[in-house]
Amino acid sequence: MQRTFAIVKPDAYAAGHTGAIIARIQESGLRLVACKTLHLTQRQAQGFYHVHRERPFFSSLVTFMSEGPIVALVLEGEDAIKRWRDLMGPTDATKAPKETLRGTFGASIERNATHGSDAPDTAAYEIGYFFSGLELADL
Ligand code: UDP
Ligand code: MG
Repeated sequence: MQRTFAIVKPDAYAAGHTGAIIARIQESGLRLVACKTLHLTQRQAQGFYHVHRERPFFSSLVTFMSEGPIVALVLEGEDAIKRWRDLMGPTDATKAPKETLRGTFGASIERNATHGSDAPDTAAYEIGYFFSGLELADL
């Protein structure tokens, strides 16, 4: 069993796609362990994306991720990290296959509807950034 961290980003939340995205998660067989809606400050978004702080898109990404509410999720299942990345599709929504979440709900390389951890160490960091141990107890 593996856990991964997911976000319904501000573009998808504002467009009312949260329910459809969570439905796709559950249809895929991934289990919803934790879920909350929150609105990140710029500082909180900077902290979450600190690995990208030197990249040219960092400032724009932080503004986007703090422009409105998001839904933060912890997903669980066999090979959950890769399964969630596959469900989302590639970063650039304009190149993502139509059947993927980013292909369906994303608009650009930045406004791409969802986030997913890329490896076990980043999943652990990201889950801990958003959820306390109490919220992650075995259900
Ligand atoms: N991003 C962007 N421009 C780029 C690459 C990425 O605005 O050229 C944004 C996009 O929202 C992406 C996030 O930065 O989801 C994190 O980038 P990463 O390379 O980690 O892509 P991901 O893991 O989300 O597919
Ligand atoms: Mg990434």
